[in-house]
Amino acid sequence: MYCVLHLLERLGRDVHIDLFERVPTPWGLIRSGVAPDHLEKKQIADRLFQLLLAQENIRYFGNVEIGRHLSHVDICEKYHAVVYAVGASDDKSMGIGGEHLPGSWSARQFVAWYSGHPDFRGMQVDLATERAVVVGTGNVALDVARVLTMPVATLSRTDIADHALSALARSRVQEVVVLGRRGSQHAAFNNAELEELLELDDVEVKVVDESPSSPPLRAGDWVTQRKLDTLARLQSRPLRSVRKRISFRFEHVPVAVIGESCVEGVQVDCPHVYGTQVIDCGLLLRSIGYRGARIPGLPFDELKGVVPSQSGRVIDRGKLVPGVYVAGWIKRGPRGIIGTNKRCALETVSELLEDAQKDALAVTDERDVTNLLADRGCEVVSKEGWSQIDAAERRAGQSSGRPRVKLIRIDDLLSEARANDG
Ligand code: NAP
Repeated sequence: MYCVLHLLERLGRDVHIDLFERVPTPWGLIRSGVAPDHLEKKQIADRLFQLLLAQENIRYFGNVEIGRHLSHVDICEKYHAVVYAVGASDDKSMGIGGEHLPGSWSARQFVAWYSGHPDFRGMQVDLATERAVVVGTGNVALDVARVLTMPVATLSRTDIADHALSALARSRVQEVVVLGRRGSQHAAFNNAELEELLELDDVEVKVVDESPSSPPLRAGDWVTQRKLDTLARLQSRPLRSVRKRISFRFEHVPVAVIGESCVEGVQVDCPHVYGTQVIDCGLLLRSIGYRGARIPGLPFDELKGVVPSQSGRVIDRGKLVPGVYVAGWIKRGPRGIIGTNKRCALETVSELLEDAQKDALAVTDERDVTNLLADRGCEVVSKEGWSQIDAAERRAGQSSGRPRVKLIRIDDLLSEARANDG
């Protein structure tokens, strides 16, 4: 959507943009990744994205998968330029035994499940365990630790998926252990996200850092100092009651996932103290980072999990692929907050416009993509269809004071979108 913004800013009505999305609903991680209690972060959809989508020269093709309904070649022929902004839909691997035992999920899957992404609605997340372990100390790790420990009454005022809300209401998880393989100085979360834990009134926070006496912080490293101060504040704040606990264990390296037929524990190595120990748990969330997935027809850097590019222009074995661009996590890897994508998109769009000015971009098939999609039996969700879904979800949320109740079955989304046409 930031690419759309920059293209509209530069070209106004002189550009025509078709947006393709694999599921019926737009907004990617804003809808299916941003934590349900971070409502203010989701507002970018109403404040900006929806306004962009409403422009006459923008068309929306929801429920259309590139690589299935349309090939890379199809779209390259029909447009002067194609920008892939498909994010990172895979996971990094810990590369240890037992990683994929039942009861072990990537945080990406868990987040998509509680966010109501249609692909993950059937996930059987078992919360009948007293302890969950989260590997990694990034912002996603904090999101999942918060969702597992915050009062269900708070979550019930958000747009969390209904299936997740009822599973969390029955949850027996008492403690969430967050494992950092390095010391607290190197924790990957941001200060603002860590400070949110101070708001969890009845959640005790424990911090164990097994680093050898850490070297003093670099002078002026206020960001890290603030993190360490917050961790200390979290531990010492008085609580009226304790409902659940989050335990940070730094300098704990996971070396194996233990269990016969499902996760029973995580074996960790604490090199500076007692060697290895097993932390018993029935749920493991691997929050060690996302990874881009290969796009049929495009080059792919297996090591980095990105499409190789030069400032957004796709490169194949050292040569530019004319008219094909990338933006967001598939371009630069799974790093950065929402706003980081604005800069990233600007860089890509600037390259694209430079190519357009040089007359380096061409369309070889003038026929409208709509006909091709109809021939291939693809049921497209238009922007009117999306508006219909959006309105229905908001209406469903009104009676219970929620921003929306998400539709999470593709069939339900499609029939709601169809209601508009009928
Ligand atoms: P991340 O910030 O890259 O954190 C990954 C964590 O996993 C790090 O602590 C890393 O430790 C650890 N790790 C990696 N490989 C490991 C392994 N093999 N064993 C144990 N630990 C391992 O990733 P993320 O949390 O998925 O976040 C992705 C991006 O989204 C970040 O830029 C984040 O800021 C952003 N995000 C922002 C928000 C927000 O603004 N509220 C919310 C969610 C996500 P090392 O440091 O030792 O490698």
